[in-house]
Amino acid sequence: MDRVSGCLSCDRNELTDRPVREQILVTEFWRLAHAFGTPIPGWLVLPPLRHRTVRVRITQRIRTGLRSHASG
Ligand SMILES: [Zn+2]
Repeated sequence: MDRVSGCLSCDRNELTDRPVREQILVTEFWRLAHAFGTPIPGWLVLPPLRHRTVRVRITQRIRTGLRSHASG
């Protein structure tokens, strides 16, 4: 299932005019975004680009991707 209408992450993923704060970095699996609705300034989240109904493990492939983006 790639997208579910009414799901905040899916709906935000579909926007063509998404603000930069919601796409600091975009990969084939996720996008790095500033969280909103949180009292913690600067809180970042990694919404997946496909709909998920359960927590998923961050695989080695994703960890490696995060490291390469963080260092480069
Ligand atoms: Zn979703």
